[in-house]
Amino acid sequence: METLYLTTDPSTRTRSIQTAARLLREGHIVAFPTETVYGLGANAFDEEAVLRVFAVKGRPRDNPMIVHVHHPRQARELMQEVPDLFGELVNEFWPGPLTLIVRHNAAVPDVVTAGLETVAVRMPDLKITRNLLCQTGVPVAAPSANLSGRPSPTDASSVFADLQGKISAVLDGGECPVGIESTVLDLTSAIPTILRPGTVTREDLEDVIQSRVLFADANAERPLSPGMKYRHYAPQASLVVVSPQHAESASVLADAVAKQLSAGKRVGLLAPEAMQGMGEAAFFSLGDGTPVEYARRIYAGLRALDAEGVGVILCPGIAAEGIGVAVMNRLLKAAEREI
Ligand code: AMP
Ligand code: MG
Repeated sequence: METLYLTTDPSTRTRSIQTAARLLREGHIVAFPTETVYGLGANAFDEEAVLRVFAVKGRPRDNPMIVHVHHPRQARELMQEVPDLFGELVNEFWPGPLTLIVRHNAAVPDVVTAGLETVAVRMPDLKITRNLLCQTGVPVAAPSANLSGRPSPTDASSVFADLQGKISAVLDGGECPVGIESTVLDLTSAIPTILRPGTVTREDLEDVIQSRVLFADANAERPLSPGMKYRHYAPQASLVVVSPQHAESASVLADAVAKQLSAGKRVGLLAPEAMQGMGEAAFFSLGDGTPVEYARRIYAGLRALDAEGVGVILCPGIAAEGIGVAVMNRLLKAAEREI
């Protein structure tokens, strides 16, 4: 299959979005940008199309998809009942990187939810994406547009690297401004519970709903979010995360780089700009090193350093607070070990 490459500069945008919307409606698989990462979309009401997304990614069938909507109304149409907090949360955070878990009605096919009674819904924030969803006219089920287990793609060329020839089209919307996947919040438990941390933080949520929000216990016997039990986001090189206490001292990092180099490894360093220039390591900059910059660049960095053929990637960790919770969640899931 030839994968159409749809550009979105001012002269092509309208036609590209129209084409992508038509393809989705007709049951094709189309990758599209969102503010978080690129999604691999299918018409959520078309079971065959949704099944093909699982197949193309190599995604385990028990890992449900997020349904993307262009308006909160479209999400309500999928629900059995609308949770009390839904209106408040949506007013504050939609469009945006917050996915809500709610009980679904009969409109939602089982393949989308992996047979669960609940469905994940989100209204993404990029103008191109909202336009696309609006024109498609049906909700779009979409996981991230990578091969299962690989780092999520944050630009169209990363999508191509994984899926060229396997999907109908890629809509290129440039680089994703957030860079990591949405916060997933379960609204069906007695106390709202974060199943996956993202850039909408626990504190952000608690401020709006004026009550407690929990983090799901990742070690629970039955993972609340099926996706959490799989290894994720991993580069081909082995990733070593330097724990934040040590990462503060440049000498610990320099020692770690030197040790890997002397063991004959090609080393990649994924670190704030200020740490550039350590030995012979390939370098990918995490900008000013704030949690927001980490989030925006970590997946691109893992892919870029892989492409340079390094054997080991070293990355200094950051404090797990605020957006740092989500950044460290992704880094540690991708990592082989932490020092
Ligand atoms: P992805 O789209 O690949 O970033 O993954 C979406 C995440 O949301 C995965 O961790 C899923 O397991 C999770 N998810 C999707 N639907 C549900 C649901 N109904 N209940 C709990 N978690 C869900
Ligand atoms: Mg994913």
